[in-house]
Order: sequence, then C-alpha cells, then structure tokens
Amino acid sequence: MEHDRIYNFSAGPAVLPVEVLEIVKENILNYNKSGMGVMELSHRSPEFTEIIESAEANLRELLSIGSDYSVLFCTGGASTQFSMVPMNLKGGGEGPCSYIVTGSWSKKALAEAKRFSETHVCGSSEDKNFSYLPGTLDIPQNAAYVHFTSNNTIFGTQYSEEPDTNGAPLICDASSDFLHKKLDIDKYGLIYAGAQKNLGPAGVSIIIVRKDLLERVPADLPKMLDYKTYVDANSLYNTPPTFPIYVVGEVFKWLKANGGLEKMAGRNKEKADILYNFIDESEFYRGTAEKDSRSLMNVCFRLKNEDLEAEFIKVAKESGFNGLKGHRSVGGVRASIYNAFPKRGVEDLVKFMAQFSEAHG
Ligand SMILES: *Cc1c(COP(=O)(O)O)cnc(C)c1O
Repeated sequence: MEHDRIYNFSAGPAVLPVEVLEIVKENILNYNKSGMGVMELSHRSPEFTEIIESAEANLRELLSIGSDYSVLFCTGGASTQFSMVPMNLKGGGEGPCSYIVTGSWSKKALAEAKRFSETHVCGSSEDKNFSYLPGTLDIPQNAAYVHFTSNNTIFGTQYSEEPDTNGAPLICDASSDFLHKKLDIDKYGLIYAGAQKNLGPAGVSIIIVRKDLLERVPADLPKMLDYKTYVDANSLYNTPPTFPIYVVGEVFKWLKANGGLEKMAGRNKEKADILYNFIDESEFYRGTAEKDSRSLMNVCFRLKNEDLEAEFIKVAKESGFNGLKGHRSVGGVRASIYNAFPKRGVEDLVKFMAQFSEAHG
C-alpha cells in the first residue's frame, strides 16, 4: 500500500487522510515558505492567526453554522467537556441537567454533571449492554438541557437523527462522528467533539455553542473552564494546541475538496453497508448492536465461536488489518471506519473475513 501503510481500524487516535499527512509533512519543516515549521510558529503570529481563522471559517462553511453560534477550540479532550458542560450550562432556575445514557461515555458525562447539579436520566439502554438506543424518553419539565452521545464508540450504536427534547437545549457529545454527515446546527444548543476520532490528532476539542446559552455561565468559574474565556479571546486566551488546530484545519479543507459533508455521508454509508451486509449474510459472524441502532463509524461484531476471536485478531494483524480488537470493556471485534478510512480497506477486510471463516468454519 501507499507509503507502506497498513489498514488502521483504531477507534482513536485514528486514521487520517494520506493527502492531509502529505501536506502536514511538508509544513512541519517549513510552513508556507515562512522558513519556520508549523509547530514553531507563535500563536500570536500572522501565520497562526490565518490558520485558526480559516479553520473556523471552513468549519462554519461545512456545517452552515450561523452567526448566533460560537466556535471554540479547547484542550482537555472530550472528557473535560463532561465537566464544562454542566458547570457552564446548568443554569439558574432551570430543572435538572438531563442525560440519555447509551454507553460508557454518556455514563461518564452524567457522573461529572452530578458534581455540579441535580441530574436526571431521560432514558438508558444499559439493561441490554447498550446494544440499542432508548426509544421513549422521559424529559423533565424545564430541563436545563438534554445531553446525548451521537455515536457510541465502544458499543457501536449511533443516532441517525437527533432525539426530541421537548424544547430543552440539546447538548451533544459528537466525539466519534462529528463531520461524518451534515447536521442541522440549529437543533443544537452545544456540540462538542474531541478531534482524535474523526477530525485530526489528539489535543484539541471543538465546541459549537449557541450564544444565548452563554448568559447562563456563572461568574465565578475557573478561567480555563469558562466558555466565555474562549469566546472573548477567540480561543487564544492562553496558548492553544497550535499543531492539532493546524491539522484539523487541513482536514476541513480536505473535506471541502472532496465534495463536502453530503458526499462524505454517502461514502460512510456505503462503507458501513459493505461490512454489515457481509456480517448479516454470514453464519460465522454476528453484529452486536440492534440493526436500527447501528453505527456507521464503529462496526462491532463477534465471531459466533468466541473462542476464535483472539486468533481472528492476531491473524488479521499479521495480514495488515490493525486495531480490530474491541474495547477492553466489551471484547469482540470493532472496525472503526471513520471519514478518512478508505473504502478499499473495508472491501479487503470483508475478503479477509470470508477467508478466515472458510479456514475455521
Ligand atoms: C473517545 C471519546 C470520548 C473521550 O475523549 P477524550 O478526548 O479522550 O477525553 C468521549 N466521548 C466519546 C463519544 C468518545 O468516543
């Protein structure tokens, strides 16, 4: 394969587009003929100002984000947002911070909210090991907000449309599917995503927040945990993660150059269908998520004979398919096939799976 690269099915940090890596490689030594590498640029320099401003502009264009929303670049991963969301948005007179619990990440988000506020669980799929998305929701009167995880990276389920919140602001952890398709931003109060699944390297998180919600932010928050700090300073209050922001910006350009999010959505569907169709027709493999809740990003499956899974993962790795081991909390196999993952790799994986089942069936 190109540059001796193998197929990387890691859930995150994850595969990046080769075209982007080529550009990054050039600019590590000499950014845009400035004579300095991109990591060596001052965050106050005109070069970096252009990098962060064009990253935001391209993101706004990709998602048609209106001027009533702010775009922030934060550090601390999505896990810091688990705390920042309730700290900033629990509100004054509003009711509980409300959570739809669909996996390990939403459980962690809820646990953080409990430190700061009254909370409420609107629905949970824990009874069946998070293999589905809860249907009817119990939304309290005046919920401060309703939080959901759009794609459950570990369990391989994903919302195909937003849950109805009965008018409460919708908050989304989109860490593992942000920009896999176009969203109607106006449905959201706040969206956050760590970069290392579908956007770029680890180290930056993107937050899109509706400006009117910032009126809720309490006055006494630690500076770095206060959304307004980032809004007021255009994410340059302190030194931001300049290199991850640069790479994420190049990924935004790559998305635009490759037909935008509508095209990307089509490709993602196509890739996931290849894998799910094969699994469904197979006697040897079985998908773990319920069909109507399946993720296009993380395809989780088991071998019907679970004793063969370790061997499957080992032989797959030897054959150039890396990162297929399911999360340590669930086991099995997980193929993460984010935006940058090539369709060819999914086709080759299916061929490998067929061969493996013939050899062991
Ligand atoms: C990976 C992941 C997180 C945690 O991200 P960190 O950047 O490691 O804090 C949170 N939510 C979801 C949905 C994830 O996939």
